[in-house]
Amino acid sequence: MQIDLTGKTALVTGSTEGIGYAIARQLAKAGADVVINGRSEEKTAKAGERLKGEGAQGTVTAIAADLATAEGCAALVAKLARVDILVNNAGIFQPSDFFDTPDEVWDRHWQVNVMSAVRLSRAYLPSMEKANWGRVIFIASESGFNIPVEMIHYGVSKTADIAVARGLAKRMAGTGVTVNSVLPGPTLSEGVESMLANEREKTGKSIEEVAADFVKQHRSSSLIRRAASVDEIANIVTYLASPLASATTGASMRVDGGLIDTL
Ligand code: NAD
Repeated sequence: MQIDLTGKTALVTGSTEGIGYAIARQLAKAGADVVINGRSEEKTAKAGERLKGEGAQGTVTAIAADLATAEGCAALVAKLARVDILVNNAGIFQPSDFFDTPDEVWDRHWQVNVMSAVRLSRAYLPSMEKANWGRVIFIASESGFNIPVEMIHYGVSKTADIAVARGLAKRMAGTGVTVNSVLPGPTLSEGVESMLANEREKTGKSIEEVAADFVKQHRSSSLIRRAASVDEIANIVTYLASPLASATTGASMRVDGGLIDTL
């Protein structure tokens, strides 16, 4: 199977590190012109430079914009009028018990995890429809199905992502535009590494061991019994972004290590 994205422009939101950066790297290796995004100018520019040195075949552009607000999303769209592939990856996760979680935390998860994707899809889907080709991929989570008790607000935002993706796939019916969501399980990104940093220090174990302990303890239905790597997530996203995935739309694709226990 050969994936060739030459001539396609791909925007990956929140791609200075973690899953987003891995997706950007794979799309770039497959020939896409890739747009990297993060909040700080410096970090975003650095990630763009790094990507150029890691086998990018097409162009690499870095656009800093904070997607937590409507203004930030509009600023990004003002700098980038159209894309062929939109990967709504930017997301935050903050463990916090329901009774200790104020409105602001709910609202921030909603704005970053859901509304950034809504706003960018609204901006970019019309030109994809006109071109009769496009790919929109929402990086949701297994937590959208298995609501995590330690961050209900996060799980709810990811359920919303899955629902928006399904709705948009219906809205784009009959066009060459597909819309899907991808549901990673626990994945060793920089964000998860910093979430596990205390445990790592306490136990002296490697980050992979600490992540596997977390999976066994808090996501005990996992069949792979370890965290995924960021590349394992990027693989499926790259396939979905490609012309090869033309009959897959409206799907919620699991890369969850088998932890969602339904058929
Ligand atoms: P991460 O914290 O390692 O990286 C997050 C990226 O998003 C960074 O590049 C950061 O700069 C960017 N970002 C955060 N807020 C932003 C904002 N307001 N505007 C622009 N960029 C912003 O995260 P990750 O673990 O790689 O997660 C990426 C996505 O995958 C998220 O949507 C997350 O919910 C989802 N996910 C992660 C896991 C996991 O275990 N890592 C599991 C399931 C789903």
